[in-house]
Amino acid sequence: MSQTIEGGCQCGAVRYSISGEPVFAAICHCSMCRRAHAAPAVAWAMYREEQVQFKNAQPKLYSSSPEAKRGFCGTCGTQISFTASFLPGLIDIAVGSLDNPEAVKPTLHYWYSKHLSWADFAGTLPRHPELPPFS
Ligand SMILES: [Zn+2]
Ligand SMILES: [Zn+2]
Repeated sequence: MSQTIEGGCQCGAVRYSISGEPVFAAICHCSMCRRAHAAPAVAWAMYREEQVQFKNAQPKLYSSSPEAKRGFCGTCGTQISFTASFLPGLIDIAVGSLDNPEAVKPTLHYWYSKHLSWADFAGTLPRHPELPPFS
């Protein structure tokens, strides 16, 4: 049985549904995610692109680096997605944009070398100083 979960932005202009389990879910402490989301850290759930269906408006895309695009609602500004040329066929969805963020449980921290001293949480999860090894 593959579950379907839904989410979207604060104003509802961007909505999506996701079928099946994430490839991977983790909390990123990198400075790029921090700035983009204006938040101390960002929880991401990675899916294959075909698992995610956008309805209504598509996210607007901002190239935060030559390789990467960050998707957000053009009306209310909620950060929704991350795609990159080094992650072909994959899309990260911001766990905080899910209607039920409890539906996805991150399994590790990454870029922990950049974490804010006061943003120390989910301490039972492994902490990787940079990107975890992909296997
Ligand atoms: Zn919106
Ligand atoms: Zn990051």
